Amino acid sequence: MRHHPIVVPCVFLINQDFHTHSTASDGTLTPAELVRRAGEAGVERLALTDHDTVAGLAEAAGAAAGAGVELIPGVEISVSWQGHTVHLVGLNVDPADPTLLRGLARLLEYRGWRAVEIGRRLEKAGIPGGYEGARALAAGELVGRTHFARFLVQEGHARDVREVFKRFLVRGKPGHVPGRWADLQEAVGWIHGAGGVAVVAHPARYRMTGAKLRRLLGEFREAGGEALEVVSGSHSKEDCRLMARHAREFGLAASMGSDYHGPENPWLQLGRLPALPAGCRPVWTLFETRKHGAVLSDTSR
Ligand code: AMP
Ligand code: MN
Ligand code: MN
Ligand code: MN
Repeated sequence: MRHHPIVVPCVFLINQDFHTHSTASDGTLTPAELVRRAGEAGVERLALTDHDTVAGLAEAAGAAAGAGVELIPGVEISVSWQGHTVHLVGLNVDPADPTLLRGLARLLEYRGWRAVEIGRRLEKAGIPGGYEGARALAAGELVGRTHFARFLVQEGHARDVREVFKRFLVRGKPGHVPGRWADLQEAVGWIHGAGGVAVVAHPARYRMTGAKLRRLLGEFREAGGEALEVVSGSHSKEDCRLMARHAREFGLAASMGSDYHGPENPWLQLGRLPALPAGCRPVWTLFETRKHGAVLSDTSR
């Protein structure tokens, strides 16, 4: 049931979620199902941010009005930075921007190669059929590690997806393939070229020292990046407080997103995010200055 607060005095009470996935990448709900479920959960503004693809946005946009949801077109771009994989969320992007589409096509091609390679490595480790199995579980063109993880669970190689990652898909494990994703600067460039706002996703989840994270944020800011995901489904309260401090220190706006992948993960619900900590500049205040494709105001700050 929709939750209607009795008093809605300001924009901060809008229920918003700026990081979600659909079957266009590794989520389990179709874009239309996701939007409908978000509406039912009381989410008024939703960004669909699939990994390295905008393929789900048209369907999501088609379902938005009927669900009472304002859809923010988004994408989550995989980046390789100093040996780490870092995710940048692009918000309010023009899904038809040719440079963005070209960049994402390159990442999709790499994903295709990587999926074959993961399959090969798993086979060497005694697990055949991984590539075909993962492909069959992917609704679209994009095959990710999550599809492999679901297949391995299905085949009884592990109890759950988390365990598959730990035992097979991360560095040092048999199915791991080092990422060769976009550069930080080029990914920020694609997002800006498409009129969007660039956000460092789930910053507390990277296995980086504090000093390295600060270097990342410094370079991101230098590249013109605007925001940090302060509130995230994968952040603890303490992570959130720390990231709010980082956002202020680096002059970054703050975003909030669940990183919802579907109802299979019952610990993570749509429409249940805590508010941004006091003192944060909300990322959505930047949406007005950039409109899909056409930068309406000076982009320098
Ligand atoms: P990929 O971009 O294909 O390398 O896959 C990254 C995705 O895998 C993330 O967006 C998560 O959805 C999922 N993932 C990564 N690490 C884990 C983990 N430890 N447990 C469960 N899912 C994970
Ligand atoms: Mn994912
Ligand atoms: Mn991510
Ligand atoms: Mn995500």
